[in-house]
Amino acid sequence: MTIALRNFVDGAYVDGVGAFDKISPVDGQVTATVHEAGRAQVDAAVAAARRALDGPWGRTTVGERAALLRRIADRVEERFEEFVAAEVRDTGKPVAQARQLDVARAVANFRSFADTVSAHGLDSFLTELPDGQRALNYAVAQPLGVVAVIVPWNLPLLLLTWKVAPALACGNAVVVKPSEETPSTATLLAEVMAEAGLPAGVYNVVHGFGPGSAGELLTTHDGIDGVTFTGESATGSAIMRAVAPAVRPVSFELGGKNAALVFADADLERTVEGLARSVFTNTGQVCLCTERVYVQRPVYDEVTAGLVARAAALRLGRPERPETTTGPLISVAHREKVRSYLDLAREEGAEVLTGGGVPDLGADLAGGAWIEPTLWAGLDNTARTLREEVFGPVAALVPFDTEEEAIRLANDTRYGLAAAVWTRDLERGHRVAQRMRVGMAWVNTWFLRDLRSPFGGVGLSGIGREGGRHSLHFYTQPTNVCVRL
Ligand code: NAD
Repeated sequence: MTIALRNFVDGAYVDGVGAFDKISPVDGQVTATVHEAGRAQVDAAVAAARRALDGPWGRTTVGERAALLRRIADRVEERFEEFVAAEVRDTGKPVAQARQLDVARAVANFRSFADTVSAHGLDSFLTELPDGQRALNYAVAQPLGVVAVIVPWNLPLLLLTWKVAPALACGNAVVVKPSEETPSTATLLAEVMAEAGLPAGVYNVVHGFGPGSAGELLTTHDGIDGVTFTGESATGSAIMRAVAPAVRPVSFELGGKNAALVFADADLERTVEGLARSVFTNTGQVCLCTERVYVQRPVYDEVTAGLVARAAALRLGRPERPETTTGPLISVAHREKVRSYLDLAREEGAEVLTGGGVPDLGADLAGGAWIEPTLWAGLDNTARTLREEVFGPVAALVPFDTEEEAIRLANDTRYGLAAAVWTRDLERGHRVAQRMRVGMAWVNTWFLRDLRSPFGGVGLSGIGREGGRHSLHFYTQPTNVCVRL
């Protein structure tokens, strides 16, 4: 069944200038017709957001906004299965994962930022100068304004709400541009926003692509006050250029080429289980996924055999089947990119330990974007396969001897998003984790999140941090008031 997905501007669903098909990555069927926003719709969305800021929304209290966020969370929970179905239809990810991770986290995002904003305060100083002058300095937080929210397709609702919840908590108005691959949940969320009582114009959605389409129209628009973006590093560069003339702030969560460091003293059963999760979750399409696995030589063979067994145990298939562990990649175009790395790895001399190609899942799924979970040995850090983000269910295993060598290998990248250290020696765990040149380092776990902690990357992996009060910093502007006493 094909549905129509429209833009949401100033509290109403509106058509665009054209339309494009949303293709299911499961079987290649068209699942939706998406109305692509043109300049008129983007202009209208930005203008509606500005009007909302100038109206009653701009005078809401923190308490009112926190209550609103909680109502939104409740409404998403009431319509939980609709969100799950929408996310699964767009991405093909297993239903169980959409329930446990994607939609559950969206609910948690709204509740967490309701708590954070309620508890947040700003500095004040009693100023006493040597000449006897006294003053009270205090800061008040103003919203950033009209925020452009540009998000990718891998965890669509989770990443969208990770930005929209704090933006609304701080009193901003947003224009959201979801990925062209995953237009559904952002569109459905618009209904929930209206049901929860959000005024028209505070949450707008424009559909389309990046260059020459809604993404570029929005990021180059004169009426926006900042851009929060999650996606590829190269897109981040393009957006930086787009906002440079008007010097607008950006918050960027970009790509990664994340390392796992497995020491010989690690609990190998737990480590292999954690590694498998970190390589294969969401078919490897999580920015935090491990694509480089450095293993201390005495346990290299055992870890390799364990991980290969885990890869072989994954079950590819339709998302609604309970035995399915692994869905397709997001699109055939992305599958072809991942496949090019499977070819490149071979050219670079990799030994393919498992996978390495496109699986035959029968005629029914032949039009889908399927790929085999793949592990490589025999490569080192000079290989492009170990330097470039693949964003698929793939990893290379590389042996090391000493702790210093492992740290050097893990940090030998222009990215710097996440790392995971596996060891029973907690002193070593702390020591190595603190030397990782990344935004997030885990010890004996992976992707265990506390939503109050800072999330982000260094180098090609991003600018700024999100999470708890770190998000509030981006979505507000402090105004300092100095009162002479
Ligand atoms: P992408 O950069 O291709 O697209 C992301 C969004 O930007 C989409 O909505 C797209 O339409 C839009 N866009 C593309 N070009 C644009 C332009 N010139 N101007 C304005 N908008 C533009 O990324 P993707 O392929 O959707 O997502 C995968 C990437 O996202 C990976 O690199 C992954 O590592 C990264 N990612 C990072 C994090 C993080 O938190 N660091 C989280 C998830 C994904």
